[in-house]
Amino acid sequence: MTDATDAVTTLTPRRNPKPEAKTINGRELKPSTLMMGHGYDPVLSEGSLKAPIFLTSTFAFENSAAGKRHFEGITGKRPGGAEGLVYSRFNGPNQEILEDRLSIWDGAEDALSFSSGMTAITVMLLAYCNQGDVIVHSGPLYAATEGFIAKVLSKYGVTYLDFAAGATRAEIDAVLAAAKEKAARQGGKVAMVYLESPANPTNALVDVEAVKASRDAILDAEVTPIAIDNTFLGPLWARPLDQGADIVVYSLTKYVGGHSDLVAGSIAGAKRWMDPVRALRNTMGGITDPNTAWMLMRSLETVELRMERAGKNAEKVCAFLRDHPKVEGIGYLGFITDPRQQDIFDRHCSGAGSTFSLFVKGGEDAAFRFLDNLKIAKLAVSLGGTETLASCPAAMTHLSVPDERKAQLGITPNLVRISIGIEDPDDLIADFAQALDAV
Ligand SMILES: *Cc1c(COP(=O)(O)O)cnc(C)c1O
Repeated sequence: MTDATDAVTTLTPRRNPKPEAKTINGRELKPSTLMMGHGYDPVLSEGSLKAPIFLTSTFAFENSAAGKRHFEGITGKRPGGAEGLVYSRFNGPNQEILEDRLSIWDGAEDALSFSSGMTAITVMLLAYCNQGDVIVHSGPLYAATEGFIAKVLSKYGVTYLDFAAGATRAEIDAVLAAAKEKAARQGGKVAMVYLESPANPTNALVDVEAVKASRDAILDAEVTPIAIDNTFLGPLWARPLDQGADIVVYSLTKYVGGHSDLVAGSIAGAKRWMDPVRALRNTMGGITDPNTAWMLMRSLETVELRMERAGKNAEKVCAFLRDHPKVEGIGYLGFITDPRQQDIFDRHCSGAGSTFSLFVKGGEDAAFRFLDNLKIAKLAVSLGGTETLASCPAAMTHLSVPDERKAQLGITPNLVRISIGIEDPDDLIADFAQALDAV
């Protein structure tokens, strides 16, 4: 019999007594297999098959020397960094298991979890920016990200330049070269190239391979990481680290959480890119709480199943909507018409996702009538949940965007944003059919 106290105080996913199989006869196990057990050994928790939720603010040291050793690591007096668990603002067993499992999906060395997607994004940007630095970003970005860069970081002397999500290598080169000059004038560096793909709601894809080639040619790859918000297609349909991005960013609130019942975020990449962000997270706070981390571990067990089903559903629904007489057009990655965008899709994506734009014939009136008549699909912002959601960006999420910018981005009053869930696809088609009939 294990002593209960010993079992609990020594638990850390880094100290598995039973070596974990990640390959069998040379076969590398797939993420969907590893989600059931990676980073957790029941032996350490009374045989509990599932990881318990560790509701504690602090962790007991085995002895004083172990306590000193930890702080030598955290303060840099001893190389190698901190070991083990000490205080819940820094980490905890649930968060560490979650982070280990998140890294697997993107093929990353390390990951960090946060209390929201925006906490992940803001702490990461703050960790990389000094006064005088320049951020280059693709546009448009998630509105809060764009606002943080333009309105908050600018208060601390950090400026930005942007290029359109669909930009060519030559256009990207021009912006990176201009950013390098601007940074030199301001006495700073280009702190980060920050991407979001596909852009919302235009669905324009960023050519990550072109951005990497441009960064490597114009900037110092050791100084300026490429980060990308992969919330719309990750972790199943896009793996941007494979195309040369350094850091992948998620709102876990969406497909990864997947049940519209939690808010969380993460970043993943090489440990050297994670370390400065971890240090700032230790200072500022913002790590996921243990309960949310546990819910995300449950979500990760079904993320592939859910995303596959949602993707198939979206394919069927979009095929129905495409030729409907009340539909003016549809912005879905399965129906790309631009050959350059199709080329990026073929190189970067393994699926078209389940979030798309539907243009209902008519104006705001027509869009509202369609939305108000839906019986299965819920009228709400957000995406990536088990249930189908629909909203009207021009009147809701993008209401504050100036009209000129809205027109430029194609955010028309008749644009409806739809995120398809895992319901029966023919039920969804019946719902969209009757709501369009009511327009
Ligand atoms: C929702 C979202 C975010 C913000 O995430 P929160 O979890 O709501 O903080 C960032 N980027 C994209 C693309 C999103 O959809």
